[in-house]
Amino acid sequence: MSSDREWMSFINRAVTPYHCAEFLRRELVSAGFAEVSLGAPWELRPGAYTAKGPGGAHFAWVIGEDAKPGDGVAIELAHTDAPCLHIKPAGEAGSYYALADTDVYGGPILNTWLDRPLGVAGRVFVRKKARVSTRVSGSAKTAAAKTAGDSGAVKNAFAVAGSAMQVGGTAHTSEYLVSSDGPVMTIPNLAIHFNRDVNKGVELKKAIDLRPIAGFSMEKNWLAEYVASLAGVRAADVVESELYLYVTQPAEIVGVRGDMVSSPRLDNQTSCYALLAAIKKAAKRGRGLSIAMWFDNEEVGSQTRQGADSALAPMLLAKIYDGLGWPAARINEAVFAGRCLSLDVAHALHPNHPEKYDEPNSARFGDGVTLKVSANQRYTYSAELIAEMRERLAAAKIPYAVHTNQSDVVGGSTMGPLLSSQLPMATLDAGVPILAMHSACELMAASDMKALTGLAELFFE
Ligand SMILES: [Zn+2]
Repeated sequence: MSSDREWMSFINRAVTPYHCAEFLRRELVSAGFAEVSLGAPWELRPGAYTAKGPGGAHFAWVIGEDAKPGDGVAIELAHTDAPCLHIKPAGEAGSYYALADTDVYGGPILNTWLDRPLGVAGRVFVRKKARVSTRVSGSAKTAAAKTAGDSGAVKNAFAVAGSAMQVGGTAHTSEYLVSSDGPVMTIPNLAIHFNRDVNKGVELKKAIDLRPIAGFSMEKNWLAEYVASLAGVRAADVVESELYLYVTQPAEIVGVRGDMVSSPRLDNQTSCYALLAAIKKAAKRGRGLSIAMWFDNEEVGSQTRQGADSALAPMLLAKIYDGLGWPAARINEAVFAGRCLSLDVAHALHPNHPEKYDEPNSARFGDGVTLKVSANQRYTYSAELIAEMRERLAAAKIPYAVHTNQSDVVGGSTMGPLLSSQLPMATLDAGVPILAMHSACELMAASDMKALTGLAELFFE
């Protein structure tokens, strides 16, 4: 179970796409990947590299001693973001009760966010000359309660200290990733006595029903003071913040045999972690050209600067070729001869709602990793690549199932079709089968993670 704990602990820490990308970066650097900047020229040799992308995107690649221009490139991708609630810029609301104004990021099952402890995390941009309180090597606990007391602006010291990591900045501001590291807000349901029809289904008004309570009887400007305390600075030194609510419940083993995992953000940090394991293994092998791409903004359509439906992937590939001194004209061959694995969670068969599924083409818990098929290309459908992977998965004894949607049900989509329209390579969409996709807390079989990691590692071989 120790390997389960590793990826579960990654999910617990990766509370926003930015945190996810930063922890990927740290893991890669400590595994010996050389860090390079997208904004600088490169001189690459065979080896393992990593580069921070825009937003919550991140990249890593391995250049083998045997890699040659025009050889088929192997690309794998996953997304770092998850549906959640965003705290608006002027986010302070309420009078006696301290509320936060939110809007919805992506497509969460809204009612699952109610009555559950929520944390606050995101990015804070601080004036360059700000005095920052106790901080060691960019990741220590900020003395939030102390700072708040020092400033004299907040009557009640904040209960949870939180943490901050400095991750970047410009000539004008320093950027911190902050997290409350625990629950600080919650969104209470209306009692059933005021809504007798609640169990027939209730429509939540996003602007009204999704405002969390952060406390009561607090002084004005509490939100700005709190955000500043997370970064360990005075509120006047915070120039900008981008904050989200996250589910603080940790990933937990459930089931009478302890064989399932209940957790927030299984979509899609299971894939993020499997891809991390796969590129680290590829670095040890050191053959060919293998690229791991973690994109942001999948939950809002991917067509953004840091999303999969952008120029990022072609630009990265061109930049790697340029860094190696390889002719750009050979990139086309590398793409046409290349293969791509797009990792995102899949739908597991729901025992209470089999009518929503095409049962022979549905994955159950424990079936392994799911390969997705869609004639309409909602998932990439490259039968030749599925054929190849069936043979290789069987040889490697990695369990898998194939999923197609029930014909009268429109399922979701993912990054595969988007990336393969940017880079026309044979692409396969795959992931672990989960239940309650986009709920604040999702469910999967622990053993399917091993199959997912097995596929991700095999694909780079
Ligand atoms: Zn997803």
